Amino acid sequence: MKKDILLINGLLFSPESGESQGQTRHYIKIAAGIIQDIGPMDQCRVDDLCPVVDASGCLMLPGLINGHCHGAMTLFRGLADDLELMNWLENHIFPAEAKCVTPEMVYWSSKLAAAEMIRGGITTVADGYFYEDAAARAFADSGMRAVAAHGVVDFPAPGVPDPALKFQVVSDFIDQWQGHERIVPAVFAHSPYTCGPETLQAAKVLARSKGCLFFMHLAETKQESEGIKTKTGLSPVRYLQSLDILDGSSVCVHGVWLDAEDIALLAEKNTKVITCPESNMKLASGIAPVKELVETGVCVGIGTDGAASNNTLNILQEMGSCMMLQKVSGGGAPFLSEKHVFEMATSKGAQVLGLEKSIGSLEPGKRADVVLVDMDQFGLMKPFDSYASLVCSASGVDVKTVIINGEVVMDNREIVSFDEKEAMSRVRRLAEKVRG
Ligand SMILES: [Zn+2]
Repeated sequence: MKKDILLINGLLFSPESGESQGQTRHYIKIAAGIIQDIGPMDQCRVDDLCPVVDASGCLMLPGLINGHCHGAMTLFRGLADDLELMNWLENHIFPAEAKCVTPEMVYWSSKLAAAEMIRGGITTVADGYFYEDAAARAFADSGMRAVAAHGVVDFPAPGVPDPALKFQVVSDFIDQWQGHERIVPAVFAHSPYTCGPETLQAAKVLARSKGCLFFMHLAETKQESEGIKTKTGLSPVRYLQSLDILDGSSVCVHGVWLDAEDIALLAEKNTKVITCPESNMKLASGIAPVKELVETGVCVGIGTDGAASNNTLNILQEMGSCMMLQKVSGGGAPFLSEKHVFEMATSKGAQVLGLEKSIGSLEPGKRADVVLVDMDQFGLMKPFDSYASLVCSASGVDVKTVIINGEVVMDNREIVSFDEKEAMSRVRRLAEKVRG
């Protein structure tokens, strides 16, 4: 039975529930994991039996959403840098994964990722990996909310030594996790260059039959785009369309190399996109046309990608990078606004994940995923414009308290839902094997 919580004296910051409420202090009443009521402090009734969290000096934000991650790759952070995607992937990451990925590795490395994300105000992550059952357990045990998508590729993979059995493994994983309060299972077909057309179609059929989201890295590099065009005569997006994969439950991750026809098709099919600007910069993949996607009506969220290609899991930082990258890419100074980027990490991120009815904003009836950001810090001490302060100046250290599904998981900068030091020491030990 969940405890009720009353947050008091905080400054409400949730665009969808009526914009930032200026300097008026507000309360948020949480009951059974749900936001029951929000209002100005002069209307707050304190119930003696309800635990109170004093949010004085804090902004109260909806929990941030990391729309794309491979949590387990915290183990490989710093393993291979200054490389382009295919060299990085084929000569460094795939071999390290073949050697080191076990359920134990995925569990502890994902738990370490959870600690890093919680510390940065992320309450929901869309994760994709192998042994995703261990990742889902790590996120469940950490107190986070996760869309956990099981990886699919054509070749033998960790936990799926026989590719012929891959859909049985994914199907069993989905059956095991469907109905969990915070974990939503999904399918992650790695990419069109690791999955042939039959695999892509079968993965989508499985996702449809289970009512799950279908994720895929798509149009990440020029090389990938040109390779698919040479083989099929189609762009990556039109190739997916030819396989009947584009619909409102498909999420294309990256979407860097898209033309106007691709973008119009994504909008028509209501297919969502997650942009990962720092990963795209670090792997020299290019700049996603976020401006054109948004203007054409595509719902775009934002993600960090894995820690080996970023190298942090910090959505506050990612928001700033996204906004600035779009401005230098030809969008001009008015685009992309801090407000829009903040929505990409909250309400629009929730829409991408099909969770807009339950998370993404602070409103009565929604799940209580609330982040308190300390305004007594350099970046936020005089917020002339709270969006600009959050997107351009805030960092993880400003995040003070994190509540997920009505449970306090970080209290005054201390993670209380699990032992993050244990996760650190386990991952340090696992790292010895990567080096050896
Ligand atoms: Zn990725």
